Amino acid sequence: MSKHGKRCAVLDSFYITTPIYYPNAPPHIGHAYTTVFADVLARYKRLCGVKVFFLTGNDEHGLKIQKTAEKLGKTPKDFTDEMAEVFKSYWRSLDIQYDYFIRTTDTNHEKAVKEAFNYIYKKGLIYKAKYSGLYCVECEKYYSPGEYVEVEGKPYCPLHNKPLEYMEEETYYFKLSDFKDYLLDVLRNRDIVVPRSYSEEVSSKIENEGLRDLSIARPIERVWWGIPVPFDDKYVIYVWFDALLNYISAIGYGGDHSLFNEYWSSVHHVIGKDILWFHTAVWFSILRALDIEPPRKLIVHAFLTTKGAKMSKSVGNVVSIEEMLGRYGSPDGVRYVLMRIFNMDKDSEFDFQLLDSIYNSELADTYGNLVRRVGVLALKKLRGKVYRRSIDPKLRDELNSKLNAYIEAMDSFDVSRAATMAMDIARMGNQYLNDSKPWEKSDPSKELYTAMEIIRLSTTMLAPFTPRSAKSVSTAFGFEVGNPIKYSVEVVERFNVTDAPVLFKKISVSKKG
Ligand SMILES: [Zn+2]
Repeated sequence: MSKHGKRCAVLDSFYITTPIYYPNAPPHIGHAYTTVFADVLARYKRLCGVKVFFLTGNDEHGLKIQKTAEKLGKTPKDFTDEMAEVFKSYWRSLDIQYDYFIRTTDTNHEKAVKEAFNYIYKKGLIYKAKYSGLYCVECEKYYSPGEYVEVEGKPYCPLHNKPLEYMEEETYYFKLSDFKDYLLDVLRNRDIVVPRSYSEEVSSKIENEGLRDLSIARPIERVWWGIPVPFDDKYVIYVWFDALLNYISAIGYGGDHSLFNEYWSSVHHVIGKDILWFHTAVWFSILRALDIEPPRKLIVHAFLTTKGAKMSKSVGNVVSIEEMLGRYGSPDGVRYVLMRIFNMDKDSEFDFQLLDSIYNSELADTYGNLVRRVGVLALKKLRGKVYRRSIDPKLRDELNSKLNAYIEAMDSFDVSRAATMAMDIARMGNQYLNDSKPWEKSDPSKELYTAMEIIRLSTTMLAPFTPRSAKSVSTAFGFEVGNPIKYSVEVVERFNVTDAPVLFKKISVSKKG
């Protein structure tokens, strides 16, 4: 085993989650950005031999869904049933291989939420009191002074650019303020939030502004589409409280705990930075109140933007998944280009010109071209039988160092860098062919075996990004996509090439975004 065996073996299970999505409209590329990222990490871990549980799903309760369904003349239940199928079909179209699709209307989930609510109530951390304030219907949250913006002297939601509504009601509060010391300790001393800058952002917000108790119920006459407060049927539980608990209800909290015991300690939440506060201050406190450890990792990414604004339906700047699939011809193409611009710290501007050039120069001209060239040569020169030969040690070292950099990048969730390492290897393969000119030789066994090994390595590294291509290349050339951390050269005795697939057709480059 290589020296990297240890790094991956730290976890023998890997639980990865996406946020659960509001199904008020079909998913767009912004959702795909998050979900493909989680899928790439899940596939990588599976390749490493780790037991993976990959969770995604829909957040189906709350006023927004209730209103959307009403507008369509449907019941929220019928509407969310339909939308669950819509989301699943989009995830299929992008080859998202989740293990469980949770819906917050699932009976198990509702039971778990009630149980958690009761548990926290009995600990004295939930109380009833009056609340008044400014509320955003879209966010389904109250805004305090300093949190909202003013437009022509009126308070507006900073995210939705819509006026806030004044609201007054009796509600149930969660004693978030009790958790200040705990949160500051966890955020500062435990290495949970990735990248770390987000952890500092939250801890300084807590330090500077303090923590206010959080309203976690809504009167049923305003919001009836939700989980009832277990001991007070005049209220339903606030959607965020309901939604966050999906991460534990999905693995059996409130029921059979065997999956929970197996997976909770390795949970990796993937989120966009807009929901950072709820996933740190609120979620870590709820977990603490439930006597559950905070997540192992919270991986935060920046936004995919168009013209500088976060891609969102309300802003009206979304790119559809269909458009991307149509343009790049396969889920592999879409997945790859999205992950090449993936960034945790900085927003990535969505630009078709840039994506087209990544697609053409990397997938079509570099990796696809290498596979096609070598496949054709192997068939023509060696009738598809490529026997083991020794590989130039200098080249082997170079390949290994790229592989090491790839593993390091993947283990720190830097998928863009990992993809670049895989592509560098394919580029080395093309260069090697240009230099060694196997087509001029009567027996190019050594050159073609070397090239096949380069293809096997780059295909293995690309497999989490481009699973379909990995399958067709490994089938056409007769090898298995194995565990990248156990990779070593010259183990394949004979490649049996039966086809030289064309993986990615070049597309004509667009003039504008
Ligand atoms: Zn809002």
